[in-house]
Amino acid sequence: MPQVSIRDQIKKLLELQKLDKEIFDYKKELQEKPALLNEIKEKFEAKKAALKELEDKAKAIQLDRKAKELDLKAKEDEIIKGNAQLSQLKTNKEYTAKLSEIETLKASKSIFEEKILASYDESDTINAKIEKEKVFIAEQEKAYLVQKKDIEESLKLLEDRVKVLAGQRNQLSPEVDKEILVRYEKILEKRSGVAIVPVQNEVCGGCYMNVTTHSVNQIKMHDKLIICEMCARILYLEDDL
Ligand SMILES: [Zn+2]
Repeated sequence: MPQVSIRDQIKKLLELQKLDKEIFDYKKELQEKPALLNEIKEKFEAKKAALKELEDKAKAIQLDRKAKELDLKAKEDEIIKGNAQLSQLKTNKEYTAKLSEIETLKASKSIFEEKILASYDESDTINAKIEKEKVFIAEQEKAYLVQKKDIEESLKLLEDRVKVLAGQRNQLSPEVDKEILVRYEKILEKRSGVAIVPVQNEVCGGCYMNVTTHSVNQIKMHDKLIICEMCARILYLEDDL
């Protein structure tokens, strides 16, 4: 074993652990927050896409109505033309045939008129929906921008805090024996930012599994680092430092 006091090293590791746990948690937040912001943004974008769909539909209804109005106009012209032709017809048969033709045109015209009226109703309904959606989206956008600002500000704070903690860590880490530090850092990486944990009532403070009496006695001897057999974290006793 290195020429160092294990008891002192454990104390240094505990100081380091305090910093590292905080750094780990903040880094996790730094990863999660942008994802959260993205999630909010995606929801908002989906609302905008739905509005765009409604607007396209409204436009299609309007175009379709314009076409129907042109058709209606053509029917009306045909009826006028038919009526004008009536007086020039010579036989009764021709006259009756033309009249029947005009009647068919009139029936067809009235169907077009109904369809056009229905199309106006449809436009009114969809336009009301669009207006409602626009108001809703404007509110959502405002809320989104507030959240975005909040998250960006807290990210900045977290980054600053991590920098400060990293500085403190850099000052402290040379005080830990190099071999022990490497070991500690490996565990830290594998065990979610917690590498050293207390044993309480023969239970590991990291994985909450039982620690043997033999291990507890070994910890008390302070001649080497004792690790949990289950989670591989470094163990210590709070009242034995
Ligand atoms: Zn454990």
